[in-house]
Amino acid sequence: MENQEIWQKVLTALETNVSRANFVTWLQGTSLVSHEEGSATVLVPNAFSKEWLENKFNKLVLRYLRECSPEIKEVRYVIAPTHEEAMMKARKKKQEQPIFELQERFSDLVVDPTTNLNPRYTLDSFVVGSSNELAFAAADAIIKNPGATYNPFFIYGGVGLGKTHLIQAIGNTVKQHHRNTSVVYISSEKFTTDVVDSIRNNSIDKLKEKYRRFDVLIIDDIQFIGGKEKTQEEFFHVFNALYDKNKQIIISSDRNPQSLSLLEERLRSRFAGGMVADIGTPDYEMRMAILKTKTKERSVNIHEDVLNYLANNIQKNVRELEGALNIIQAKFYNSQDIISLHHVQKILSNFIKSPKKLTSMKQIMKSVCEFYDIDEKAVVQKLRRKEIAKPRQIIMYLLRSELGFSYPHIGEKIGHRDHTTAIHSYEKIKRELENNPSLQEEITFIKQKIYS
Ligand code: ADP
Ligand code: MG
Repeated sequence: MENQEIWQKVLTALETNVSRANFVTWLQGTSLVSHEEGSATVLVPNAFSKEWLENKFNKLVLRYLRECSPEIKEVRYVIAPTHEEAMMKARKKKQEQPIFELQERFSDLVVDPTTNLNPRYTLDSFVVGSSNELAFAAADAIIKNPGATYNPFFIYGGVGLGKTHLIQAIGNTVKQHHRNTSVVYISSEKFTTDVVDSIRNNSIDKLKEKYRRFDVLIIDDIQFIGGKEKTQEEFFHVFNALYDKNKQIIISSDRNPQSLSLLEERLRSRFAGGMVADIGTPDYEMRMAILKTKTKERSVNIHEDVLNYLANNIQKNVRELEGALNIIQAKFYNSQDIISLHHVQKILSNFIKSPKKLTSMKQIMKSVCEFYDIDEKAVVQKLRRKEIAKPRQIIMYLLRSELGFSYPHIGEKIGHRDHTTAIHSYEKIKRELENNPSLQEEITFIKQKIYS
């Protein structure tokens, strides 16, 4: 049997053992290049795919390979360098790359003026793991067929988790694959400014025309148009015009559509009507994989122990992991020293805060009220309106769960209420949290704010 035929059989067999998302993420782009003397060599697209296959699927792969060719005893997974990596290597050969030049090189990659896309965001440099595999699989499908399958594509998650990276990477890749497709990336703030300007200049029709021409519209951080009626109205029209023509719409947000309380219902239901995927915080394995990818990208050599320390201590988001790498790289720039764990711990002692969480009543009030866009004063008043009552209960819940306040103390602090009110609020939110995923997300997000 030919290699290609064997591998096709293996893939077909594997497909029944893994989820669709896993299949797309890990196995697409792999190939069998040789099998000689009992050893098979499989090309994989990136380090993460290699690690995943080696650690989780090697046995199965071997079993299916042997069904086709029984003399195979072992499998080697080899990363096929992408075009970018090959270029990077070539550059590195020319000169060692200290960090400052490296950063310059990133800023070399200028934002494309017609699409607003930053070429630094690629799919190759995006690490996929359990916290983002669904979003990634959807992205992959969209790239193959913009507008056809997942429309709109709504992606949400907390800060620094890769939303902007992924949606821009979709744009960049669509552009590569389909040259004539017109793609545009825009932040919600920019869209808002555009709307405000064109109202002022009496040119709102021109603005509509402009946006309706795109085949792929990517709009980042949609939560910012919350409460801005005119912007929402214009966006609604642009959305419908594009959607009716099967143009791809990609939206990111810090929370799910249901929780966008300042958005008109008609927009919320449009957003929820397509593919909705979240990006969560990366688990330990993924944090390690991200660190390995980033050190490789930057051609720095950092010992596994140090990476392990970073992955264990920086858990909140990817941006912070990158931040730690930046600090280390800057510190060891031009130094011949080996980057020791001890050294890194010292350098990062300010960056990596003590594991004990610290917050205050003030911080909890502020974060909750900001999230629900209510006035802090309203919380302690006697108002019973639903939009105040729920945040008030959440505040009481958090005062108990995060600060361990007693019920009488909570009642006292929240407008001299009875302690039974505090108990009721705490219990109610706790119960609801068990089976209300959107409340779970809201509270996770609020906690992220509280501790950031
Ligand atoms: P968000 O838009 O969700 O706040 P970003 O997309 O700006 O987050 O990501 C923050 C930083 O972390 C970026 O530099 C991005 O390249 C990096 N990053 C986030 N997720 C990943 C990932 N899965 N793989 C590689 N880099 C990532
Ligand atoms: Mg972003």
